[in-house]
Amino acid sequence: MAGLAAQAGVKLRPHAKTHKSPVSAHLQLARGAVGQCTQKVAEAEVLAWGGVPDILVSNEVVSPRKLARLGALTRIARIAVCADHPDGVAAIEAAAEAAGTRLSVLVVIDVGTGRCGVAPGEAAEALARRIAASRHLAFGGLQAYRGRAQHRRSPEERAAAIAEAAQAAGRTVEGLRRAGLDCPIVGGAGTGTFALEAVSGVFTELQVGSYAFMDADYARNDPPPPFRQALFVLATVMSVPRDGAAVVDAGHKALPTDSGMRLVWGRDGIRYEGPSDEHGRLVLEPGAARPKLGERLRLVPGHCDPTVDRYGWYVGIRNGRAECLWPVAARGTMA
Ligand code: PLP
Ligand code: MN
Repeated sequence: MAGLAAQAGVKLRPHAKTHKSPVSAHLQLARGAVGQCTQKVAEAEVLAWGGVPDILVSNEVVSPRKLARLGALTRIARIAVCADHPDGVAAIEAAAEAAGTRLSVLVVIDVGTGRCGVAPGEAAEALARRIAASRHLAFGGLQAYRGRAQHRRSPEERAAAIAEAAQAAGRTVEGLRRAGLDCPIVGGAGTGTFALEAVSGVFTELQVGSYAFMDADYARNDPPPPFRQALFVLATVMSVPRDGAAVVDAGHKALPTDSGMRLVWGRDGIRYEGPSDEHGRLVLEPGAARPKLGERLRLVPGHCDPTVDRYGWYVGIRNGRAECLWPVAARGTMA
């Protein structure tokens, strides 16, 4: 990803909501990333405490308590945060003033996701002017993530969605420029569409997250993103009750199912059929080699981000040997 971003002349600011780990962040920084994105204040804290110097919370933060924590964090890292409402801007401003600091604020525009954000164009400009006029804030640019486009299966659908997003973001950048406001960051992109944002001429930073690990759902895109599967949940075969069946000790609690069922890695003819809390039923096609009792199988998560959040540690494996243990330091909701 670092190579592809450099080739396209855009910055890489990987999303830490995927890995939740300062160790991963530093590996990405060492390969040329300009900083990290987070979705939550708690993730930003863990990264900043772990020495990550430049963090964009690519999300609206509106609670005064959380904003106070972000204000405090500016003592040890460059921090930017997003807003999509004048009241949100006022809350960030109050926190920055109380902390005696200046916070950088990006305006979230809805480029077709239908989630958060103000409309591109005039509404975004009005909010940007409000930010730029504050003594305690700096206008950081636009947050223009097109969410659902990432998992559209066909290249045509993804291209159409990102063309629309780039057009909306580009029009807003132009309007801001006419009003005398520069956009230091125009951020967006995910693992499904990054190549499109990269060459759009509008986006300046890619906020890709999942590429570092990949998952079964991204592998279903046509074509799949050009990254290897690197994240697995190790499961043990706990029962081989009948011909054509086996059961592993990884069910609902081990992996999320929001993006479809997990896959069994490297074992043709074995399908993970259905989870219960602590069990996973495997179905063997005729002729498929039956796993042995106690055998360990690698499961490929359907969706990498919520999978990582369930575990305390990464075990790094190279050539069959455990090489490192990294804590999933920003896991959970409270940290
Ligand atoms: N940026 C934002 C705002 C997101 O919400 C997401 C993921 O949902 C991403 C970037 C990264 O997407 P991906 O993990 O698909 O690369
Ligand atoms: Mn995700």
